[in-house]
Amino acid sequence: MQGTQPGSYAPILNNNVASNNMNIPFVDLKVQYQRIKTNIDGAIAQVIEETCFINGHFVKEFERDFATLYGVKQVIGCANGTDALYVIMKMLGIGEGDEVITVANSWISSSETISQTGARPVFVDVHPDYYSLDESLLEARITSRTKALIAVHLQGQACAVDVIKEICHRHGIYLIEDCAQAHFSEFKGKRTGLHGIAGTFSFYPGKNLGAYGDAGCIMTNDDALAEKCRMYANHGALKKPDHRIEGINSRLDTIQAAILGAKLPYILEWTEQRIRNAALYDKYLADIKDIVLPRKRPDTKHTYHLYVIRCKQRDGLMSFLKDQGIETAIHYPVALPNLPAYKYLGYTPADFPVATRLQQEILSLPMFLELTEEQISYVTDKIRSFYKK
Ligand SMILES: *Cc1c(COP(=O)(O)O)cnc(C)c1O
Repeated sequence: MQGTQPGSYAPILNNNVASNNMNIPFVDLKVQYQRIKTNIDGAIAQVIEETCFINGHFVKEFERDFATLYGVKQVIGCANGTDALYVIMKMLGIGEGDEVITVANSWISSSETISQTGARPVFVDVHPDYYSLDESLLEARITSRTKALIAVHLQGQACAVDVIKEICHRHGIYLIEDCAQAHFSEFKGKRTGLHGIAGTFSFYPGKNLGAYGDAGCIMTNDDALAEKCRMYANHGALKKPDHRIEGINSRLDTIQAAILGAKLPYILEWTEQRIRNAALYDKYLADIKDIVLPRKRPDTKHTYHLYVIRCKQRDGLMSFLKDQGIETAIHYPVALPNLPAYKYLGYTPADFPVATRLQQEILSLPMFLELTEEQISYVTDKIRSFYKK
């Protein structure tokens, strides 16, 4: 099976030069590494040199620097973004008999962690224009058992967090923001992750701030809650063997913390570059009537973790682009309540008409900050030629 491993792309064929073929991966992590190789290699080498493999100053420094840059009091490193959601819910006392609301279209972490606590996930359909939680449907899903809402800022775009926050406040439920796709996004000038009791982040390699393995964190301005989370994610102890509670092992890996620390100085500039790339897509795609471009919510800073179009003949377009060397993806092909994993909740696709329709129409185009204008123009030319056929 040589040459067919995931992530390996066929070389540009010499006999194809005349047709100007390009190979464009969905995400290219290699270009970034090559650009900052000395910093990354140096950071990894230093961890090994110091044999400082668990916690230690690298983790503390990354937590401190990320908190300072973001403008929050506390950052608690975790093993990944999924655990970050689980840990914060556990430390807010969520468990058996409770309900937690989240959105019908997201990565499964947003709902599986609710079940992990013993609570029941309750889904809300998505907004037809912005593809994240439809705030007008939220209140109808709140019951006396509802303890929290996980608001997912999907694709890098904030949900209507002002309306959502007001509803949560009025019903006395916690607002947790899942910012795994929304590092440095903003709603009305305030960064996502700072609007509720806590924000959770993933540093999965392909995320806007990515480690070289699994990593994540929780952020909060509540010092006491932060201490609980820190304890719980480290076997219930701030220092061994002082186990005040039983916990789990979900520490931010030290090598990952050092890598993230090496990337942090670039992240604001990288975020702006993603926004510029999205603007180029907008410009080059503007004349194609068969697709709907991502719509930006007013008063937000969309950081384009994903650039998602809606299109006719989605599957046809996707395989046509693949044949042209362009890798695209679907986020997500099946809305959460329609997954076999949630059959037990007894929903039908008709309960989530927008999410169910979108799962047939959405397509994520290649998006990473190192995309060149030439690559964007190649992708958009191919999309145009598909609809001209
Ligand atoms: C990636 C992601 C997560 C989970 O992050 P991991 O670090 O992979 O565990 C959670 N929520 C959303 C919306 C994500 O995209």
